[in-house]
Amino acid sequence: MNLHHIVNWTVVLGICATLNTGCGGGTSGACSAGADCQQEVGAYNVSLAQYPGNRLAAVSYTFDDGSRNSDRIIGLFDGYGLKATFFVIAGLTGEPQWSMWKTALGNGHEIGSHSFTHTLLDNDKLTDQELAYEIVDSKVFIGTKIGLEPEVFAFPGNKYNSKSLVLARENYSAIRFPFEQGETGRNILYLGATSTVTSMNAALDAAVESGIWLTVAGHSVDGAGYSPVGSEVLRAHISYAASRRDKIWIETFGKVAKYRRCWSASRPQLIIVNNSEWRVDVITTRPDCTSAMTVLIQGGGLNSGRKARATRAVRQISNEILVDVVPGQSGQIYFEN
Ligand SMILES: [Zn+2]
Repeated sequence: MNLHHIVNWTVVLGICATLNTGCGGGTSGACSAGADCQQEVGAYNVSLAQYPGNRLAAVSYTFDDGSRNSDRIIGLFDGYGLKATFFVIAGLTGEPQWSMWKTALGNGHEIGSHSFTHTLLDNDKLTDQELAYEIVDSKVFIGTKIGLEPEVFAFPGNKYNSKSLVLARENYSAIRFPFEQGETGRNILYLGATSTVTSMNAALDAAVESGIWLTVAGHSVDGAGYSPVGSEVLRAHISYAASRRDKIWIETFGKVAKYRRCWSASRPQLIIVNNSEWRVDVITTRPDCTSAMTVLIQGGGLNSGRKARATRAVRQISNEILVDVVPGQSGQIYFEN
């Protein structure tokens, strides 16, 4: 898996190249940065940004067990307009909490499954039925409670065996841990009593430095639940993260996982229709890639003082144009002379 052809081809103006492989990037070899997976049109290099808006890194904040003061965490993220992922235990969640999770979901947070009873799923003595209860039934049950079945799963204690891992991968689009085989560019930061604002901010800075996706894995705040972190520590860190959001994509676990999957399975295409109109497409091999991806067009000639306008968000910086394009829906860029 993840063996991509290294794509490095030239397209003559107006002629489409067809290629049935993804080239947004991947996780192996020379494709890892997307640098060899680009289209060249005339003087321009066209590539898919590794993160939306060509940000330098991504971070997802996740909290396990759905502890009783999760409302403080939700409120904290809401205060900054940021979204977090909560892995809840289907069978240990009371009715008032379901109503809180449903509201959180409606406000853009993500609710994932953390099993039905928090049984550790690395136990080889568990029967198929027991595994299905924890992994599959928890998903269905959460769906009946909040109106949407979770797409993401976190193993209790991050413990799994080959059987539970196969079943989880069959039923969820992303698992927090373990990483996919060969998957690179990820890191996990666990929160607890020893977490400080300094240590958390440093982990974020390191992620930006190396361009990775950082998953922060906590439980609760202020003494509740397992391994809590102080809410003031978390607040100060989130405030710092929010101040860097032009550089860091702060999104739920499921959304970042999806963008990465689509990045690996898609390629951009630029067609220069004429001097003042360009067409940009994202061609994907995955039908579930239906969200906008950022296409990056680079070239010295872009720094000519002409202004670009587009049907979707477009940003022009010196010799770069960034445009968000939904796979299957052409994006147009118009230039004003
Ligand atoms: Zn847990």
